[in-house]
Amino acid sequence: MHIASVGVSKFCFLFSLAFCGLLLLLIPALQPPAHQVDLPQPRPQVRPAQAGQSHHTGGPVVSVHSGESELATGLNRSSAGDGGSIETEVGRNDKHSPKSGADSKRVALPGGKGGGLLGSRSRDQLDFKDIFIAVKTTRKYHKSRLELLIQTWVSRAKEQTYIFTDGEDKELRMRTGANIINTNCSAAHTRQALCCKMSVEYDKFIESQKKWFCHVDDDNYVILPSLLRLLSSYHHSQDVYLGRPSLDHPIEAAERVKSDGSVSVKFWFATGGAGFCISRGLALKMSPWASLGNFISTAEKIRLPDDCTIGYIIEALLEVKLTHTHLFHSHLENLQKLPTDTVLEQVTLSYGGFENRRNVISIVGGFSLAEDPARYTHNFWYLK
Ligand code: UDP
Ligand code: MN
Repeated sequence: MHIASVGVSKFCFLFSLAFCGLLLLLIPALQPPAHQVDLPQPRPQVRPAQAGQSHHTGGPVVSVHSGESELATGLNRSSAGDGGSIETEVGRNDKHSPKSGADSKRVALPGGKGGGLLGSRSRDQLDFKDIFIAVKTTRKYHKSRLELLIQTWVSRAKEQTYIFTDGEDKELRMRTGANIINTNCSAAHTRQALCCKMSVEYDKFIESQKKWFCHVDDDNYVILPSLLRLLSSYHHSQDVYLGRPSLDHPIEAAERVKSDGSVSVKFWFATGGAGFCISRGLALKMSPWASLGNFISTAEKIRLPDDCTIGYIIEALLEVKLTHTHLFHSHLENLQKLPTDTVLEQVTLSYGGFENRRNVISIVGGFSLAEDPARYTHNFWYLK
């Protein structure tokens, strides 16, 4: 009996020990689950666009140049070692650093699949068909200027190029198959007439759904692979305004949009005579002051020409900085200063000029004067 009761108490003791152990093991499992929502969450990485902040996503370092004499250096290929890159010249601020660079020789010509090898390095490959090139012209220049464009660079970019003129020319349209838009704006060389054309250019671009808006004059030659390479360095959803100022200082105007004109506003603008480009993201933001005729009233308020008004909307109203580039050229520059080995890397060239009528870049070799006269007189190449 005694032995049996000792056995029972031992059993009870061991059993209660096991039970307590089991309870201890179960305590964490029986606790209510932790409320995840109460935990601090990581903050999303918001990067506001600010002057000096880089959108650089790899690729070469952007070199900053300000003087004409530095043009050659700025266009030298960098030794970044990833297949060659171009040091895109970005002036005063580096708000929109190119996302990558690429050797001009590796960019496919329009007509083929744009981007070439560049595409494999880009975030999203820019195709040539994503670019909208607006050419401003007037009826009296259809023969003397437009014809030359159509015979040269426009022939390689027919689908992308839209010619904005002020007079009907069915013959030209039929013969060349070019996209010719009669704006019905006045043919005068006045602020109102030029702003009227720019207003139509803007609306047509928005309608086109393309990613980049580039404006050129009818005395500009566009080196298409260079244009594609430059724009591929950025993203169309960024706020990008690319061009070359004709002044070495910002322009000043009376602020009549945000105030009554008693205060002045200073801003940079890209000269229309050298051409400029705007990303779709930025163009959409310009809409309140640029779309559906609003461009004309904005220009009237500040009493400045079309290209200045673009600069005003972007820099003064939207507070987005112009990215200065030396790759665009108007006839106001002495183009003879342009180093021959950098010519193909330029985005636009022009010709003529007040003092230097010819103002042509010096390239020797290639085709003779008889074979390619435009090269010797207009900085235009016939494409062989
Ligand atoms: N232009 C125009 N209407 C005119 C005269 C010129 O639309 O009455 C256009 C011309 O076709 C060109 C731009 O305005 O695209 C600039 O003209 P131009 O090169 O003659 O002058 P500049 O470059 O010296 O301002
Ligand atoms: Mn001109």
